[in-house]
Amino acid sequence: MNLARFPRRRYTQGPTPMEFLPRLTALLGGPEIWIKRDDFLGFFPGGNKTRKLEFLLADALAQGADALVTCGAVQSNHCRLTLAAARKEGLECHLVIEERVPGSYSHHASGNNFLFNLMGVDSLRVVPGKSDMASEMEVTAAELRRAGKKPYVIPGGGSNALGALGYVACAEEILAQSFEKGAPFDRIFTTSGSAGTHAGLAVGLWGNRSGIPLTGINISRPNSLQVPIVEKLAAETASLLGIEDALPRDLISCEDGYVGEGYSLPTKGMIDAVTLLARTESILLDPVYTGKAFAGMLDLLRQGVCGKGERVLFVHTGGIPALFHYQSYFEGAARTV
Ligand SMILES: *Cc1c(COP(=O)(O)O)cnc(C)c1O
Repeated sequence: MNLARFPRRRYTQGPTPMEFLPRLTALLGGPEIWIKRDDFLGFFPGGNKTRKLEFLLADALAQGADALVTCGAVQSNHCRLTLAAARKEGLECHLVIEERVPGSYSHHASGNNFLFNLMGVDSLRVVPGKSDMASEMEVTAAELRRAGKKPYVIPGGGSNALGALGYVACAEEILAQSFEKGAPFDRIFTTSGSAGTHAGLAVGLWGNRSGIPLTGINISRPNSLQVPIVEKLAAETASLLGIEDALPRDLISCEDGYVGEGYSLPTKGMIDAVTLLARTESILLDPVYTGKAFAGMLDLLRQGVCGKGERVLFVHTGGIPALFHYQSYFEGAARTV
């Protein structure tokens, strides 16, 4: 794979850290748990959207765009990071916010919403849950065109084939670091949402013939809906890279037992996982994505999905600002582990 063929902006200096988690590993009695710190990506507090935006912004600039349009949930990390990239590049940024939980939007909310306001979003329009977000973004883009602007529309989560290249690049970064540290992985775990992260990692690990299985942990959908979304995006990403071979039938594997009642709604496993990692390793997860994914990984490890002598890697995709917005979820957490 030759990623250098694709124009890219750089928003992070060098690779993100990859760390062994000794205290958590000892507490669980194995396997060896490592973490890829993509919460250290650029545009502090960074996250997985930073990697996708490197390719998407390069494309927007090449097309002469002067405004970005994107969409997301009320506490969208993707919207906040797209706005950050727009500010860095001197572009306008227009957001369409989907109120997935009725009544959950407030102009005065904290977390990412506070940062939308602080970074001076150019417009923000709230639409009801289950709206057709592609056509809602097109409404905004058409208005901008009428005003003489050149909008560039980024799909939710930055998850198209171009955005997913960010996680093909991450897979290569993981393989290089694993080699440097002499730490081969037996399995990698990641969050599976709008799927650019999961699809990009899957194509990158497979395209490099790494042989490392990847488990995606769903945060919003059952497998019947999630797996086809990831498979389609993985096929599009491989095709963009010029890979002719058909993807293996079992390349995409998802776990849907950790979503709870739905997107962004708390689960006991999430609260326990966020609390446990904060107290053993001083690493903060978020309640919407990484908390549920980490809870899923811990449960699968306790079920013996990996041998005690194996080594696994969790990809931390960021999301820290939402932790502060959802502080009330943690009020019942005991003061000791
Ligand atoms: C968007 C997001 C995800 C999910 O990644 P996708 O590429 O949309 O599947 C995971 N973690 C965090 C913190 C996110 O903001």
